[in-house]
Amino acid sequence: MVGEIRDQETAQIAINSALTGHLVFTTVHANNVTDVIGRFINMGVEPYNFVSALNCIMAQRLVRIICPHCKKPVHYSAQELRESGLNPDEWIDAAFYEGGGCIECSGTGFHGRTAISELLDLSDRVREMIIARRPTSEIKRVAREEGMTFLRDSGLNKIRAGVTTLREINKVTFLD
Ligand SMILES: [Zn+2]
Repeated sequence: MVGEIRDQETAQIAINSALTGHLVFTTVHANNVTDVIGRFINMGVEPYNFVSALNCIMAQRLVRIICPHCKKPVHYSAQELRESGLNPDEWIDAAFYEGGGCIECSGTGFHGRTAISELLDLSDRVREMIIARRPTSEIKRVAREEGMTFLRDSGLNKIRAGVTTLREINKVTFLD
């Protein structure tokens, strides 16, 4: 375990450990998985060493879970859906929920938290793109083609499952 990586020296230690056969876990502050690549390259790490040492990158956010005691369905207009980047044709009949607030959740409408996440698996194609210093927008596109679920998608899945609210997901993820 290497705690938070903030500088070149720590990044290099983590990468050297991984290159010499150790299983290394570490954390970096970034908005999403593709930003992590840029963070390492900007710290002066050689892309070839970076991809050789790396298996995958995961990003996660915590979101609040709707209180089961005061959970109720809510409706969003086509306009509100569009503002959240959701296609009304697809979402207008979807069931959204919110907590109204009750004694069990001290009026917050939420009880507990859960994680939404995205995982970038380093395929050969993604590795080659990192070595070639391709822009993150291209890496994102290829990752999507290869079946990656993005943070936003993970959040929308939690909305569909009635676990959390649209507002909560809008607070912790960005629209593309
Ligand atoms: Zn409640």
